[in-house]
Amino acid sequence: MSTTEQRVAVVTGAARGIGAATAVRLAEEGRAVAVLDLDEAACADTVAKIAAAGGKALAVGCDVSDSAQVEAAVARVAAGLGAPVILVNNAGVLRDNLLFKMSDDDWDTVMNVHLRGAFLMSRACQKHMVDAGFGRIVNLSSSSALGNRGQANYAAAKAGMQGFTKTLAKELGKFGVTANSVAPGFIATDMTAATAARVGMGFEDFKAAAASQIPVQRVGEPADIANAVAFFTGEQAGFVSGQVLYVAGGPLN
Ligand code: NAP
Repeated sequence: MSTTEQRVAVVTGAARGIGAATAVRLAEEGRAVAVLDLDEAACADTVAKIAAAGGKALAVGCDVSDSAQVEAAVARVAAGLGAPVILVNNAGVLRDNLLFKMSDDDWDTVMNVHLRGAFLMSRACQKHMVDAGFGRIVNLSSSSALGNRGQANYAAAKAGMQGFTKTLAKELGKFGVTANSVAPGFIATDMTAATAARVGMGFEDFKAAAASQIPVQRVGEPADIANAVAFFTGEQAGFVSGQVLYVAGGPLN
């Protein structure tokens, strides 16, 4: 590609939270961005934010756990924006429950969105990356990958994202494709707000309690994660691959 050609990024789960901040940030980095989420209409805010700042974005509705929808979505991105060579697998759900109460559906839903979703999206995009001789894949893991009460499904999926990332790094490196993982700690989004509601706490109290346990004494914001993704997807990060970066305001035990 010529140096003036704009690279195309796909961010899944980009209607809100970390995905939305990441989409906006990658547009600021000069990328054209496919804002992908379950509900296409819900992507409008993120797309409007990017357009208002002079960037280029496309809303794409897609369930990342559905193979046919993923194939169609990636084809749509390629036709509408150009070959997707940057992929951020961010879409996520929680179905927290202690093991004895965790249903088959709690387990399958989490595995399907995080792991199967990242697999399907990566498989669909990699051919564009290989053709371009350039690619950047970032998979969202979590501090919960180290184990977290009530999250047997989510912890397993987020630990799985790390193994998946390292394998992609090994398989795709020779094609100019890097794969890395960002593992956030506590980030203030609808996801953590829902957890606060589930445990019967107000979100402000929940955040304050979390902040008191974090070395930098605050919870994370979506932009904290977007910054890390911007680094891994950068033109100059081509020798950084197979890494897991915990972005959690301090080290984790
Ligand atoms: P969020 O606010 O809940 O946003 C997640 C987005 O993913 C939502 O827009 C959701 O759409 C979308 N999504 C869910 N299932 C999907 C599917 N099958 N196909 C396409 N999109 C789907 O979450 P967040 O806090 O920004 O988290 C983003 C990522 O970071 C997740 O992978 C999460 O596990 C990870 N993470 C978050 C934290 C944190 O503290 N927030 C910490 C560690 C890791 P709907 O709204 O329609 O459901």
